[in-house]
Amino acid sequence: MTSARQMTDEPANLLLQVTDLQTHFATRSGVVRAVDGVTFDVPAGASVGIVGESGSGKSVTSLSIMRLVEAPGRVVGGQIRFKGRDIAGMSDREFRSVRGRDIALVFQDPMSALNPVYPVGKQVVEALRAHQPLSRAAAMERAIQLFSMVGISAPERRVHEYPHKLSGGMRQRVTIAMALANEPSLLILDEPTTALDVTIQAQILDLIRDLRQRVNTSILLITHDIGVVAELCERVVVMYGGRVMEQGTVQQITDQPCHPYTQGLLTSIPTPEMKGRRLNTIGGAVPNPLRMPPGCPFQPRCPKAMDVCSTKPELNQIGDGREVACWLY
Ligand code: SF4
Repeated sequence: MTSARQMTDEPANLLLQVTDLQTHFATRSGVVRAVDGVTFDVPAGASVGIVGESGSGKSVTSLSIMRLVEAPGRVVGGQIRFKGRDIAGMSDREFRSVRGRDIALVFQDPMSALNPVYPVGKQVVEALRAHQPLSRAAAMERAIQLFSMVGISAPERRVHEYPHKLSGGMRQRVTIAMALANEPSLLILDEPTTALDVTIQAQILDLIRDLRQRVNTSILLITHDIGVVAELCERVVVMYGGRVMEQGTVQQITDQPCHPYTQGLLTSIPTPEMKGRRLNTIGGAVPNPLRMPPGCPFQPRCPKAMDVCSTKPELNQIGDGREVACWLY
């Protein structure tokens, strides 16, 4: 078997290359390896989903890319290259010109991205003027167009409203408009529907699906829901215990999941045939991050665990650009 990074490296086509990323949190009780050697790529023009349960390290991965990990967390190793440039090595000043312009992030909770004391239109205007030489009037014109693009009705009126006057779904549309303001090459959506109620979730997913057709932006979608990734993305990265367990195209992973953890995630998706029946769930719980098993992190919950699994399996190519970290392969 061959190391994953050696086989998939085609830099010209890759927008984002994350290699052996390590983000640790030094706590009083010990070091939490929230992201423990994560490697994946986002090809230009593609949408890639990172999926895993809470505690898998998927959100810390996106915060590490955006340099938003808060103390005591710190990126302690690895490389993040964007359009071939090492963004992890940039000064804060250099990186500020990338964040919000080339790479934009939409959070789970829209209120964390919006300032409660300013009208929402003004906030989009500021996001535009931070990176483009626009007059206030031209920026407001553009903000109204963006509101209309993300499905906000009466955008001329809505730009003057304060965040608390808008519904949760409307606020998330505003943060998506703000993220798209500078036509970023990469849009990171971190659990964009989790804080919303079910009907609104469906509307925001429809919006993301629609935007994928209309804007020329690559998407990195972070979610606990493998069904959402299957619907919206071309590639999937499955994370568990701060590591990548498996990655490949949506078709590869959903038609023939290799890793026992991916198999567990897929059998827990509700389908129409399952109506009225109990959903399968993965037995056991995510291990305490301070006491991760020394070998495969999934070993305590894995129905196929063997003696060798107490040694860490590497992420290896198994053919057709597909990668799995499991001793079965
Ligand atoms: Fe299960 Fe072993 Fe594979 Fe881990 S390496 S998923 S414990 S079979």
